[in-house]
Amino acid sequence: ELVSAAEFVKSSTKTEDCPSDGLPEFALVGRSNVGKSSLLNSIVRRKRLALTSKKPGKTQCINHFRINDSWYLVDLPGYGYASAPQQLRTDWDKFTKDYFLKRQTLVSVFLLIDASIPPKKTDLQYACWLGQNQVPMTILFTKCDKRKKAKNGGKRPEENAEDFQNLIGEFFQTAPPWILTSSVTNQGRDEILLHMGQLRNY
Ligand code: GDP
Repeated sequence: ELVSAAEFVKSSTKTEDCPSDGLPEFALVGRSNVGKSSLLNSIVRRKRLALTSKKPGKTQCINHFRINDSWYLVDLPGYGYASAPQQLRTDWDKFTKDYFLKRQTLVSVFLLIDASIPPKKTDLQYACWLGQNQVPMTILFTKCDKRKKAKNGGKRPEENAEDFQNLIGEFFQTAPPWILTSSVTNQGRDEILLHMGQLRNY
């Protein structure tokens, strides 16, 4: 499937305010700087589509983009800002977790994980929370074009991805699907769209 139309629909601050037309949706979430905006734009082949979510004041919003008039890509605020005050982090948790648990039309969460670095604790905790709460999840490993460096633990992106999956395995009844991606080479883009299509028609 090709993305022929992508339009920003709305920013919502609560699950109840999200679009109510019943179209299926996929939510993108990940640590800040994981490459979420880049991947979103790579998927829809647009530059700067996701910028709305980066504007001040929109960072705590659920941002809906309608694709091909038939489904939604949802951009959620990034987590794990080291500098964010504890109160903000707690609010963020409540707000997104409420969305994950209540949003009826959510087909799958797409959790973005940076594969150019070894697994991080916040990411592991996040994935495990989704697993324990039986929220359907797909892992998108980002930045798979990045070559190993000593500071990355000397591992290739594929190896970091495998380590991550092994660490979260016990929290899932069945291993979550995963896709290796890069916004630089567009690796994984077709696979993501294919996977989303399969999940919608399930
Ligand atoms: P966001 O905060 O999750 O929306 O992340 P951005 O999309 O703004 O990307 C954060 C940084 O990572 C930027 O400097 C991007 O250029 C870089 N980046 C994003 N995706 C990739 C990728 O696939 N490969 C590489 N090498 N760098 C990437």
